[in-house]
Amino acid sequence: MEDKGISKKEVFDDLKEFKKQDMNYRSGRILGSMCTCPHPVGVEAYTMFLESNLGDPGLFKGTKAMEDDVITMLGELLGKRDVCGHIITGGTEANIMAMRAARNSARILKGIRDPEIIVPKSAHFSFKKAADMLCLKLREADLDENYCMDMDSVKELLTDKTVAVVGVAGTTELGKVDPIEELSKICYKKNIYLHVDAAFAGFSIPFLNEMGYNFPKFDFNLPGVCSITIDPHKMGLAPIPTGGILFREKRYLKAMSVETPYLTEDRQSTIVGTRTGASTAATWALMKYMGREGYRKVAGKCMELTGTLAQGIRESGFKLVTEPQLNIVAFQSGNMSPDEIADLLKEKGWAVSIASYPRAIRIIVMPHLKEEHIKTFLMDLKDINHG
Ligand code: PLP
Repeated sequence: MEDKGISKKEVFDDLKEFKKQDMNYRSGRILGSMCTCPHPVGVEAYTMFLESNLGDPGLFKGTKAMEDDVITMLGELLGKRDVCGHIITGGTEANIMAMRAARNSARILKGIRDPEIIVPKSAHFSFKKAADMLCLKLREADLDENYCMDMDSVKELLTDKTVAVVGVAGTTELGKVDPIEELSKICYKKNIYLHVDAAFAGFSIPFLNEMGYNFPKFDFNLPGVCSITIDPHKMGLAPIPTGGILFREKRYLKAMSVETPYLTEDRQSTIVGTRTGASTAATWALMKYMGREGYRKVAGKCMELTGTLAQGIRESGFKLVTEPQLNIVAFQSGNMSPDEIADLLKEKGWAVSIASYPRAIRIIVMPHLKEEHIKTFLMDLKDINHG
């Protein structure tokens, strides 16, 4: 840092240069991200609450009231109005909090000192971070022929040290929904903590079901489900960073709370101390503004475009890895590796991602994608296959 500052104009001229190097969602060229253009209403609300710190909620009583409201609205969406939880940075933090709650509860109630967790092979890598940070043994269950968690494999991995089982509603790579009803039955009977990672699909499955889709049960209506991750900064259209973690019972938050001597609250359960209230304000504003109808339109449109994309991919001579269950399409080619396809698409200005299991091109049809983007993409894809 220099001793003397530069002018504001110079600063912003430099910022513009940095910004030019970034891609943006509005271009429709980002095809491999679970984030999207934040909705302007969320952005305005976010900006209004920039100085609010939910780590010190006694100073920001209005923001705290909004967080309580948002948690109730999210709970209602996921089958239980009277849940507790927090608005945090994203799915990673939510999953780490859930694993911490499960580990601590099992230590308190069952005296388990060498804890293990069971996640599907398709689980997000945040569980690897959680296992490392919380000293949990990570046991990965196999997937069935539809890339969902295989129940026989889960049963084989259960031990008397299992402190949590995780099911995913909307897997990161293929958008699959695990058999959470079956997991709930087992976990409820054995008194094992069940966490559902609905970071991606929590903001779409409930709305799609209202439109006549028939997704398997995954939420608090199932008695075994103890916590759910749901990310407003993915299909909820909120600005980054906005994640949500919901717990069925307050005791899970208590099991990981620590004393906070100098703040306006006595105890804190979140990982982060100073915590933005802006994300909460954005989510509150968006849920009120959009209503269920608004989110139904967003989720429905993404599914419609997913259908167009999947059909076009097949017609271009590529093979879908699996029928899309949500707004994610993964495909392979008989004569090119996914890396080669991704490179050729990159030359044409498209940013796709590559799924690891199985290795395939992965496209997430997020709300920033419009029909014209999908059509242009499909033309380029055809070119690649015939070029
Ligand atoms: N869980 C699932 C199912 C995800 O797809 C993701 C991210 O893609 C995460 C958790 C992690 O979310 P974040 O990147 O917001 O931490």
